[in-house]
Amino acid sequence: MNFDDTPEEAAYREQVRTYIADHRDQLISVGDGARREGDLTRARESQRVMYEGGYVGITWPKDVGGQGGSPMQQAIVDQELGKAGVPGHVGLIGIGMCGPTVISHGSDDQKQRYLKRLLSCEDIWCQLFSEPASGSDLAALRTRAVREGDSWRINGQKVWTTLAQYADYGILLTRTDPTLAKHKGLTMFVVDMKAPGVTVRPLRQMSGSAEFNEVFFDDVIVHDSERLGEVNDGWRVGLTTLMSERLTLGGGGGEMGISGGTAASFIASQIGSLSEDRQALVRQDFGRVWTQLLATRYTGYRLLSAISKGAMPGPEASAGKLAGTKAGRQLADLAVRVSGDGGVWFEGPWQASQAGLPGLAIAGGTDEVLRNVIGERVLGLPPEPRADKGLSFEESVKL
Ligand SMILES: Cc1cc2nc3c(=O)[nH]c(=O)nc-3n(C[C@H](O)[C@H](O)[C@H](O)COP(=O)(O)OP(=O)(O)OC[C@H]3O[C@@H](n4cnc5c(N)ncnc54)[C@H](O)[C@@H]3O)c2cc1C
Repeated sequence: MNFDDTPEEAAYREQVRTYIADHRDQLISVGDGARREGDLTRARESQRVMYEGGYVGITWPKDVGGQGGSPMQQAIVDQELGKAGVPGHVGLIGIGMCGPTVISHGSDDQKQRYLKRLLSCEDIWCQLFSEPASGSDLAALRTRAVREGDSWRINGQKVWTTLAQYADYGILLTRTDPTLAKHKGLTMFVVDMKAPGVTVRPLRQMSGSAEFNEVFFDDVIVHDSERLGEVNDGWRVGLTTLMSERLTLGGGGGEMGISGGTAASFIASQIGSLSEDRQALVRQDFGRVWTQLLATRYTGYRLLSAISKGAMPGPEASAGKLAGTKAGRQLADLAVRVSGDGGVWFEGPWQASQAGLPGLAIAGGTDEVLRNVIGERVLGLPPEPRADKGLSFEESVKL
């Protein structure tokens, strides 16, 4: 496989790089706190600027506000933003997971009403899947939707809902028929997060910020026109979301929001203050992590090349997410270690990454679940015993 850009890709990369450089002062930076500010104004503006340049929703169809571009173009934009120290867009969950679900299963009316505003970050979206008793085993969810004429009455609780405290809309997976097998009685809706009966309670993490939330639904009324897909076909609709999530988290960039280049510069700037012995250890550790970052990136390229040829992503995406999370965590640990003896107390981008990245080993498929996928699908190990006969491992757990 040739890892160099084709002439077209090189020209596109140059165009992206120039646009980012020309608008750098309107874009946020890793660790500048913009993602944690109460109103997210700067983070929204940053995404809007990239949208206006034609660099958000690159692979989305043009008739819903996208660019009709290729996954490789998306990877180029992600890479150039990473090199410029710009973190993932604040609307990433909408762009990467909710939007593709609306594109695949929404009505024309839903597509016209929601998708352009999602890309330009006029609206923020969240993913309302996990519950206190259903995470990896997503199909065990209990939030109930009961039909009342043209509407549905919703009662239940979600948890770990990223960005729910800022979100305008969410995609909500509910149980509509408890008499059916657990994967069969589910239905998906778009829910207005400001509707009466929706209560959001932020959960504070060890990073100091509250990125995710508990969300309670008490007699929330959702019109049937906000259904995504058919009644009791929500598992199939949800698989679209999970597939998109896997691509978003395990795709081409593969560095989990940390640029290896930025880390290298930081470590180079600090290493002189260490004893010779510690310098040698830091060099060895950095070499090891750098190798993992490269392996993750090239695994991501395999994925992109499969998608470019129209194939669905396979276990490469699980391997990409697993390896990328591990490398990102090690890199953040190393950067904090070379910050000096007080490094662990400072409030900087490396400390924020060190505190935040363990969450990525859980979100979007835990490390253990991803290892099961690799064991089964790549290494051909015997499948783990499970009650849901007829489902592949990936269909029976959240990925
Ligand atoms: C930072 C963060 C953001 C998140 N954002 C969202 C969001 O926006 N929307 C949303 O819906 N959810 C979100 N989640 C929830 C996330 O999807 C779940 O936490 C995840 O699916 C795991 O579910 P759980 O926490 O219930 O753990 P469980 O599924 O109960 O797992 C507990 C432990 O058992 C292990 N385990 C479970 N099943 C197996 C198995 N079959 N084989 C081996 N080991 C197993 C797990 O690896 C884990 O160590 C987020 C989570 C985090 C940490």
